Amino acid sequence: MKITPVEELFTALNETSDMIKEELDCTYLEALAETGENLFHESILQEELSELTLKRLKKSYESLHLDKFSSEELRKSFQLAILKGMKENVQPNHQMTPDSIGMLVGYLVNKFVQRDSIKLLDPAVGTGNLLTTVINQQNGKSVEATGIEIDDLLIKLAYINANLQKHPIQFFNQDSLEPLFMEEVDAVISDLPVGFYPNDLRAADYELKADEGHSYAHHLFIEQSLKHVKPGGYLFLIIPNGLFESEQSPKLHEFLKEQVIIQGLLHLPISLFKNEKSAKSIFIIQKKAEDVKPPKQALLVNLPSLSKTAEVDKILKQINGWFKENKE
Ligand code: SAM
Repeated sequence: MKITPVEELFTALNETSDMIKEELDCTYLEALAETGENLFHESILQEELSELTLKRLKKSYESLHLDKFSSEELRKSFQLAILKGMKENVQPNHQMTPDSIGMLVGYLVNKFVQRDSIKLLDPAVGTGNLLTTVINQQNGKSVEATGIEIDDLLIKLAYINANLQKHPIQFFNQDSLEPLFMEEVDAVISDLPVGFYPNDLRAADYELKADEGHSYAHHLFIEQSLKHVKPGGYLFLIIPNGLFESEQSPKLHEFLKEQVIIQGLLHLPISLFKNEKSAKSIFIIQKKAEDVKPPKQALLVNLPSLSKTAEVDKILKQINGWFKENKE
């Protein structure tokens, strides 16, 4: 049976990660980062490996010709390997954004940000899966992107992911709620980390800080993202459905009313999540600017399960109709 390019690449990533994992006694994800580095540099960087493993790795790498794979094939096979590694070491706060959500965000960025060259920021870039899914969908546009992530291993995976796909993304390994030294972007895309932010001292710099106790990281991320987007620029945020139901939400409401135009809220199908409580939506907001007018009505959509093709087609028609009426 003929195997697909994604299967071929995943098999190679998987086998070589296993070899490195066994010999260096590290986790699968750490080994995956190492094998990704080797592939990118076309050389084996782990000097401590035994002769036998070096030989086996070399053989495996030599049979792969990375140039023949598309960015999407590289991303998908790397994503499969990350998923396998994440199963082994469960990381509840670092879940990778699934393809289906990334594809939708990519489609929306394409529709809303109509420019030949765009600057993107993902301040919670994780493994880079969401960011590179979106970049791979900006057909023909030139994209400059920045990704920020607090976790050392995830950012390593993200930059290897980007290198293999040949995307020149700038990465910063830091807390995104600390000051950021970067140019303003046209759009922020982010699957926001949800929960309390432990650094009360830093949170005190934000309008959206809690009046008492810890602040919500996802609220502070919205404020920080808005600070780094151009006037008239967009934020495509994956938010928990309960965003406007917490005791801290009245403040968020006021803040958004002052600073942004709400363009849309797309409820993702519950089937993508563990349960109704963990379900999320794509929230599209635009930073206010002199020449920016609000839509007649925000784009409000309940997305059907993405396997129901006919229903998805109907929704896409609805979204296109909304664009004709509000954006063209
Ligand atoms: N979109 C990512 C992907 O495709 O892999 C997944 C994003 S995940 C839902 C949220 C990410 O935010 C996690 O990787 C987490 O480590 C990161 N994060 C949490 N707090 C952060 C902070 N203060 N600064 C930067 N990153 C943070």
